Amino acid sequence: MTQVYPHDLDARFGTRAIHAGQRPEPLAGAIMTPVYLTSTYVQDALGENKGYEYARGKNPTREALERNVAALEGVRFGFAFSSGMGCIDSIMKLFRGGDHIICAENVYGGTFRLFDRILAHYGLRFSFVDARDAQRLEDARTDRTVAVLVETPSNPLMRLTDLRAAADVAHRAGALLIVDNTFATPFFQQPFAHGADIVYHSTTKYLNGHSDMIGGIALLDDPSLAERLQFIQNAAGAVPGPFDAWLALRGTKTLHLRMPRHDANGRRVAAWLAERVGERCTYYPGLPSHPQHALAVRQMSGFGGMVTVDLGTRARAAHVLGRVRVFALAESLGGVESLISHPASMTHASIPDDRRATLGITEGVIRLSCGVEDVDDLLEDLEQAWEGL
Ligand SMILES: *Cc1c(COP(=O)(O)O)cnc(C)c1O
Repeated sequence: MTQVYPHDLDARFGTRAIHAGQRPEPLAGAIMTPVYLTSTYVQDALGENKGYEYARGKNPTREALERNVAALEGVRFGFAFSSGMGCIDSIMKLFRGGDHIICAENVYGGTFRLFDRILAHYGLRFSFVDARDAQRLEDARTDRTVAVLVETPSNPLMRLTDLRAAADVAHRAGALLIVDNTFATPFFQQPFAHGADIVYHSTTKYLNGHSDMIGGIALLDDPSLAERLQFIQNAAGAVPGPFDAWLALRGTKTLHLRMPRHDANGRRVAAWLAERVGERCTYYPGLPSHPQHALAVRQMSGFGGMVTVDLGTRARAAHVLGRVRVFALAESLGGVESLISHPASMTHASIPDDRRATLGITEGVIRLSCGVEDVDDLLEDLEQAWEGL
């Protein structure tokens, strides 16, 4: 089973980001992990191999990524997948028909869609609740509850879940706390320190950071759970190709350099937006006006580059989305370049209209992923996009 090199956990974050999980390649000493483009491995003799048999099960490039991100989250085991959704789907295969999962109501649209439109048909039962309030999580508990799944900060409303409180609810029920750490990344938030049992990411976003691949990864520290997830990874087979694993691994080397800049730019853009459209309509946990700012300060060491703002109407949203020049109108987030999107018709279109409305993902909501450009260019871009609004 892919396990972190023990020594890797001793180093500080930036050193781990660059080195963890990677050792010079044995043939020539190449410092960069090769892209192992192979489907199979030649065996020495019947029943004798080098620990590698077939590449769905194991690939050295993928293993380097798994070890690297596990080290960043501070745990022993990592399992990479072909997408964030493939990762969540594989995690859910730990459960069986009749099991009950409490899920935060504001999660990525694709996560809701997977649970509501596919996994519910296999007998998994879901309760979607407002995870800002731990009591709601507690009230949703049944004697079949096996997991509590939260995304914090959430996509796109930037709602927070108190991870310690959620872990307490889960553990009292004998259930697992599963955390989507895509928005904060391990640089700003360490869910295992707050009681999480499984953490996962869409590596497509900040971990890769360059918008050039799709991937997911799950991290955990419990050996028997890790064994089960490894079995699922190989048996169900939603694995990433080696080149995508290599791209994600190249991305994590600069995570500790990129995140402070995303954060600095996010703060400036959020402050500008709060002044223009009002604090009440600007969702960014780093703003003192955010209703959960105190929790954000306690639980996170930075707030990142995601900012959401409610402009009131679709026409006003369209005005801004149609005029930006540095921000690109596109789905996704977490890359070095700034993106802007319309959750109601893009990332969260798969959520039924009435449900979206109750959540607050209205037609006037736009989501900004602040990249690492010069912030004055971002602010000037917004300034010109706002003209005539
Ligand atoms: C994008 C995203 C996902 C899904 O990941 P893919 O790599 O697109 O499959 C899951 N959770 C969050 C928070 C995301 O932003």
